[in-house]
This record gives sequence, C-alpha cells and structure tokens, in this order.
Amino acid sequence: MTDEGLENAEPSSPNDQYVVVARRYRPQSFEELVGQHQVAQALKNAIERGRVGHAYLFTGARGVGKTSSARILAKALNCQRGPTATPCNECDICRSVTIGEDVDVLEIDGASNRGIEEIRQLRSNVNIRPSRARFKVYIIDEVHMFTKEAFNALLKTLEEPPEHVKFIFCTTDPEKIPITVLSRCQRFDFGGIRMDEIVSRLAYIVENEGVKAEPEALRLLARKANGSMRDSQSLLEQLLAFGGKEITVPDVNQMLGAAGSEQIAVIMSGLAARDAAGVLAQFDHALTRGIDPGQLIEQLLGFFRDMMTLAVGADASLLQTVLPADAENIAAVARNYGLANVMAAVQILDDALVRMQRSAHARILAEMALVRVCQLEDLQSVADLVETIRSGKPLPARPAIQVIAGAPAVMHAAAVPTSQAPAAVASRPVESSVDHASASSATPEMGSSGPAVAVASPTSVAESAPERAAEARESSGGIALTDSTAKNIWEGILSDMSDLVGEYARPYKSVATSGPNRLVVSFSAAYNTQVEFLKRPAAKTRLERMLTEAVGDTVVLEFRVLDDVPVATKQEPPKKSAPSTGQMIRKVQQNQLVQQALEMFGAEVTSVRAPESGDS
Ligand SMILES: [Zn+2]
Repeated sequence: MTDEGLENAEPSSPNDQYVVVARRYRPQSFEELVGQHQVAQALKNAIERGRVGHAYLFTGARGVGKTSSARILAKALNCQRGPTATPCNECDICRSVTIGEDVDVLEIDGASNRGIEEIRQLRSNVNIRPSRARFKVYIIDEVHMFTKEAFNALLKTLEEPPEHVKFIFCTTDPEKIPITVLSRCQRFDFGGIRMDEIVSRLAYIVENEGVKAEPEALRLLARKANGSMRDSQSLLEQLLAFGGKEITVPDVNQMLGAAGSEQIAVIMSGLAARDAAGVLAQFDHALTRGIDPGQLIEQLLGFFRDMMTLAVGADASLLQTVLPADAENIAAVARNYGLANVMAAVQILDDALVRMQRSAHARILAEMALVRVCQLEDLQSVADLVETIRSGKPLPARPAIQVIAGAPAVMHAAAVPTSQAPAAVASRPVESSVDHASASSATPEMGSSGPAVAVASPTSVAESAPERAAEARESSGGIALTDSTAKNIWEGILSDMSDLVGEYARPYKSVATSGPNRLVVSFSAAYNTQVEFLKRPAAKTRLERMLTEAVGDTVVLEFRVLDDVPVATKQEPPKKSAPSTGQMIRKVQQNQLVQQALEMFGAEVTSVRAPESGDS
C-alpha cells in the first residue's frame, strides 16, 4: 500500500478499516505525541539548537510512544526541509520514514537480530554514508534482547560513531542494558500515558471514523490499556472491526469479558458485608455469563484501589474505576470499611491476580481471594482503638459497615442489616480491655472486664509520665552525678516508673560512676534476663533520657551482671495479693485484639494497670 493510499483510501470493509486505523493515527509530529510532552519538548529543543546526540535510549512500557518518537526524530533530522523540529511529512524522505521504508532510516527488531553476526553486519554498514539523507538513523527496538557479544560489538561503534550516524535504542527493560552502553546514550524515560489523554485521543479517533461512542465506553478501554496508547488503539480497532456505528459500555464489557458495573456493585456489597457465600454465588453467576475471572478480580482490585485513594483524601481526579461524580459516596463507603481493610483487600486481590496468571486453576484462586477478603479481620476497629487510646478519649461507638447499593454510576451507601455487620468492638468478648496508662480514669465500659493495658509504640514510650516528672526536676536545677549522688538519682527515677522497665530495674545491686556522667548499674547474676531486657534500646534510651534530665547533662548508662552465685529462688513478686506486672503483661498479650494492635503498630506492652476499684 502506498502512502497516498493511506491518506486517501476509504475503507471498503470493516476489516480494511481494522487494519489501517493503527497506522493512520500514529503520531507524525512531536505535537501529536500523546502524553509525552516533556520528552517531545526536549527532543525539539535538541534539534532547534543543533545539539542532537549520537545515541538515544528511549525507555518505557509498551505502547507509550517510543518507536513513534524515534520515527519523528528521524524525520526531524532528515526532512528535506530540515533539520527541523516540525518535519513536513510531505517530502519523499518524511513519507518513506512514515511507512518504514526509508533507505537511510533502518528499523531493527532487537529480539530477532540479537546475535553477534547481525551486529557485525550493522557495523560494516555503519561506515557507508547515507544514500540521500543527512543521517543514517538506526532505530533498534527491544535492544535489551541483544546478547552480551552483540552489545560488546555495538559498543565499539558507540565509542567512535561516524558523524553521519544516529542510534535510537528503544527498550521496555533498561535494566538489562550494560552500563557501558547506557553511559553513551542520552536517556529519555517515557511514562505511562494518563487515562484522560488516552480517552481524548480515542474520542478523536472515533469521531474521525464517523462512529459514536459512549464516554464511559472509552474510559473502560483506556483503563484496560493501563497507560498504553497502542493497547487502547488496538482494543478500539477490535470494536471498530465489528462495524457498528456506536460503541457502548456493554459492547466494551463483552469484548473484554468484563462484568458490568451493576454486577461489580453487587459483589462489592457482598464483600463489604463479609457475606462469603453470597459473593461466591454472584461470582459463579458472573462466570456463567461469560465473564473472565481474572478480569473480574482486576475490576474489583481497581475498585478497592479507588476506595484507598478516597480514604486517604486524594483528589477525585486520581480515580480510575469510580466515576468522579460518585467519589463522595465511595469515600463514605471507604471510610466505613476502613483504610486498613481496603489496603488488605488490595493486597489479597493483587496477589491472587499474579498467581492466577501462572495457574491452571484461576477460578479457584479467585474464589479463595474473595473469601479471604470477606474474612478480613476488622483491622480498622483495632486501628481506631489504638488511635483513641493515644488521644485519651473514650471509644466511639463503631458505625455499622455500609455497603454499596446500586450500580457504581448511581452509587449510594446504605447501612446493612445489623445481623450482617461485624460485632462492634465494645461488645467483643475480650478478656481485658485497653486503656491509656495516663488517663485519669477508665471509662465504665472499658474498665469493667479486667486489667487495663497501655499499648505504646516505640516512639510514644518516651512520652510517658515519668519523663515529665524528670523534666520538672531538671527545671529545678539538676543534680550533679557523683558516686555519692548516684544512688539517690537512680532510686528517684525508679520511683517514678510503674511499668516493666521499672520492675526489672528495681532489683539492682549497686550503682557507681565510671567516669563523668557515666552511670554503671550492677545486678546479681540471678537477674540476667532482666538486664537483657533493660539493655534493649527502647528501655536503655528511655532510662538514659530520664537520667539526663535529672542530672541536667547527658548521662551514659551501662548495665553489668555480677559474677556472683545465682540465687535459687525466683524473684519475689512486688505484691503478694496481686499478679506481678510481668504476669499481667503475659496475660493481656494473649488477648487477640491486643495481639493485633501490637502487630499492626509494631508496639509492645510496657505496662498493665489494674482497673480502679469501684469501676463497674
Ligand atoms: Zn519532510
């Protein structure tokens, strides 16, 4: 087919149209390059200033415009009316480059010409001057497929390139290119193309083709193409090949094997209600209607991803699956479902998708993922709980999880029947409740069922009450650390501590200084375990800070275990009538809710406080 044919031929059948659309809408100038404005501007500047390098590396995912840019650059260099940043696309050279048949612009597929022989041949041709244009331009696609020997041979040419030669390497995988080659190329990274840019390009194409398209149908195509202009165009071409005069959402869903928004909404509401049986039934229903399990999981993943962006307060323009008009409703759903749950669901669905691609049992993996999402622990309730503990406020009543009713296009949040909602935190059967150690009094429902426990993350350990006491001491001057004051200072700090660190530090045997502001605390060999605990950074740093504040100067703390005979009897508990702090900590650590909180926040239990007597 001639170039003229491309420009003027009216497609005689849908099949012809299918073939030519991709070529017809390939960008022919830097201005037409969709979604790569920075790259286009940089290349234009290089041409206008006469500073075009010998070798370029274009990197980026497939279908984002690398080869198109390479051809435009070749035309810009060789156009009979150039070199120019705006090649004419009319001269013989421009037109032959456009159809990939120019004698001086050679396109080489790196995947099928990857060996040393091909590169040797290339090298011998490199020295031959261009037959009619200014430059000989080698466009090498998928250059990362070259063998090591091929790269080495290429390197010799790159080290001393003839004046008349330009190389443009394109790759989806720059990591595989030797650094010696990379260092001799000007590198341009092509990003994925934004969805709205793909949509507007598709809209332009369908309008030119005399076909109508629902905007949402084009959005679905663009979303599926995931940043690749070429993929979006080939999907569009498949739709155009059907020969219809209008492209609708059901057309697109049918072609992609995708579920409709109503179906997605029904499954999402089942997941939010943790109704695993209902979700599996809906999933089966979708599959019997020809929907692809991987496609469906991908759609759900996209939905959860949008919930995540809304839950963290991102702008609605970042939405990919949910329509911006529905953002407010989805945000409410996301808040009720909880960010922790949303992120866990994203993880589960993504893992499933990866494994489904390698498995012959995609359906089973998809079903497992759906059930796992339904069975997610109520992570957000734990997060809320700890947040409340930190702020010292009483726990709010947890709102019922809300579900989505209706299609995403008309999404509304509605409360589920309470029988479907998970138990609220306060009514969970927990052995002990969680409270803040420094709260003035436990709230009635919190103090009713057992000892209270302070859950402190490493950062908040340093902010508890004893430090404030030490600060107060410091403001009254501080006491110089000497052998004679050491014991008083150490005892003073211990008297402020009511947690495990204090309990473990109290049975010390002696204190002394080993230099200016260096305090050595010695323990009998029987307390080796306790000393190991105290040596941990969280405990030691905290004690050092308190000492520093008491003394008014930086104090370094050192623990020593004496080489004495270990005592046979165990340490006496501090109170005979009550369990020791260690016992209480061990007990609350067995609580499932506490375990979740510890795991989620990388925290540790530092103290346990018995409920105030009289609380009920
Ligand atoms: Zn030209």
